[in-house]
Amino acid sequence: MLHSLYAHLWSIQDRGLDAFTDDLGRAGLNAVSYAATYHAVRQLMPANPARHIFYSPRSHAYFLPRAHYGRLAPQPSPLLGGCDPVADLGSVLGVRGMRLKAWVIGCHNSDLACAHPDLAVRNALGSPLPHYLCPAQPEVQEYLTVLLSDLAGHGDIHALELESFGYAAGFEHGAHHEMSGLPRDAFHSRLLALCFCPACQVAAAARGIDAAGVSAAIRAELVRWMETPAWQLGDAVPRMGAAAAAFSAAHPEFDTFLQVRRRIVHDLGVRLRETVRAASPSTLLIDLGDGQAAANQDLLEWADGLVTPADPQAVRSAREVLGPSAFIGCGIYPMAPDPMSPERLREAVTACAASGCDGFNYYNHALMQGTTGEDIRRAISALG
Ligand SMILES: [Zn+2]
Repeated sequence: MLHSLYAHLWSIQDRGLDAFTDDLGRAGLNAVSYAATYHAVRQLMPANPARHIFYSPRSHAYFLPRAHYGRLAPQPSPLLGGCDPVADLGSVLGVRGMRLKAWVIGCHNSDLACAHPDLAVRNALGSPLPHYLCPAQPEVQEYLTVLLSDLAGHGDIHALELESFGYAAGFEHGAHHEMSGLPRDAFHSRLLALCFCPACQVAAAARGIDAAGVSAAIRAELVRWMETPAWQLGDAVPRMGAAAAAFSAAHPEFDTFLQVRRRIVHDLGVRLRETVRAASPSTLLIDLGDGQAAANQDLLEWADGLVTPADPQAVRSAREVLGPSAFIGCGIYPMAPDPMSPERLREAVTACAASGCDGFNYYNHALMQGTTGEDIRRAISALG
């Protein structure tokens, strides 16, 4: 059973690599999901011994890029200081019989999307999303492929855990003092994030879909929504599921367009897997659930497994669909927005393990409180 802790370079450095690894062993953890790339972030770190706030305004690479990149290239963090933390962490973990996984953020990259707006998601209103690259763009696909190949060649990486290697799920981002006077609902958030860049239009046309027609229908719906008084929208939020269904029914090409997007991400995944296999045959590809997301048989055409929510039913469903050989992990979020008591954490780990998962991903070292390690230790030791 793999028990992996998400961790960032800065919190490992602040703790010290040896002390960090000692902490892992004490808690019963045997793997690290190391953030090899990460978007801009500001974190409150309750248990950090050196500082309580970390701020990075940039999307950075927290490994030393070695490959030849094109117009899109990872920007090494100044925290690297010329060192290769993937190699350092890998060797220290290896000595202790622990595993190193690389947690990789793909298309969510404000620096690259802002610097190259022609490669960013461009929605039905004609506006680019400045924090997100479009995965249908050939240059984006090339960047992601070289990125994974580069990382896979950095020593003994047990798995690459992929986040945001598909399309943006919604409009909200959580940066740039994001503001909207309209009540938030998942349907319109999603419509705002659907991409109609030239690459997406070409992909749709290749499958006989009138992308301009789909875009016009979405634009009309967004304009109608934006022109509706906000107080009326607020009243309607609970009924937005029905509104989404009605929109799909009125525009049959919409679902087909969504299928095209799923195929684009799937085909990209197949290419990524081939590339990683060539660089490091034993490295697994794990979907963190925000791309293709669902546990379906197609997933196994490009990934070796996925991380589901820590829900026994989700584990059983994934196992049923993916079969006995797929890796099925559970993401454990002991902290806000739904903090877990030690008892609830133990019960969740016990129930998911009994449902047949292969491991757990605990979130995350920088955000943990001083008591979280002990809570995790108790949960893991309860498995016997
Ligand atoms: Zn696009």
